[in-house]
Amino acid sequence: MNFRGLKRRLTAPIEDFRRLGDTVDTEHGPLTWIDRGGDVLAVAHLDYVLWNPKPKITRQYENVKIRKCPQLDDRLGAWMVLDVLPRAGIRCDVLLTDSEELGKSTAQFFQPPKQYNWLMQFDRAGSDAVMYDYEDDDSESLLEYYGYQVGSGSFTDICYLEHLECKGFNFGVGYHGQHTKKCYANLTETFNSFRKVQSMWKDCEDVHMPHDPNAPKKKKINYWDWRHTSCSYPVSKVITRYPDDGNDAGRTPVEEGYEDQMEVDFSKADDDILNDVAMEWYNQPYDDLTDKCQDDCESELEAIRKENKELFGEEGPDRF
Ligand SMILES: [Zn+2]
Repeated sequence: MNFRGLKRRLTAPIEDFRRLGDTVDTEHGPLTWIDRGGDVLAVAHLDYVLWNPKPKITRQYENVKIRKCPQLDDRLGAWMVLDVLPRAGIRCDVLLTDSEELGKSTAQFFQPPKQYNWLMQFDRAGSDAVMYDYEDDDSESLLEYYGYQVGSGSFTDICYLEHLECKGFNFGVGYHGQHTKKCYANLTETFNSFRKVQSMWKDCEDVHMPHDPNAPKKKKINYWDWRHTSCSYPVSKVITRYPDDGNDAGRTPVEEGYEDQMEVDFSKADDDILNDVAMEWYNQPYDDLTDKCQDDCESELEAIRKENKELFGEEGPDRF
């Protein structure tokens, strides 16, 4: 895992991405397509609402945390599709857009040179997934099978790509507080989402998931949203305390709300430890985590199911 690569993606001007592929200039900015011989297209937007030229990348216990970095939306997604996916052997073509934050994503100008099987994007807070107008029962079940809670969202680039006639998924990438100066991400959450995509990719790389842009849109019923629960996805390895080893060198207090935690500046942290943590993300099978989460949560989920049944009857949600 190359965290310096991450820093570069977070701080590079949009012009620097042009040379990565075939770039066309549209009335709303550049659109870059990278041919990697993939049958799935991974999308990210390079524009942002706020910009911090010096984001803080820190180690917090055994987690890696990026702080005060509003451009994580969607530069973290750009890092995922440009760097993380290929390193994990996930072969996708890439589409990099501009003007998404203005509601004028240059994705709308994309003329696909081939029929893609499906689309993915990592431009969502937290770690659920959303499908917008691509959603139907089958695709929702598919996401749930891989451990995603299916949420609802406003829009992102893939919403402009219905003319590609395949399903599109926007996966949570672990940022929080987007569009604010305090925007942060804990890469543990990022990689929990990544691992689910990794499993889905393994099974579905070659599966064409057709989408009819003219089909009636699924009416999204949100009555179960009131019961979001952290049990729906396992956050496996958010370490909340340092070992009590008396070694406080380089460990400094952190901001309000994190008083029980400590962190060190990434520049002073041990690169090898960071890399070990990162490799564990790649290597730890996601299914193991899911099973553990299921065990941990089963009794709580049973209580919620019962409550839902009482409130909504047999028609009620059976998600939890
Ligand atoms: Zn975004």
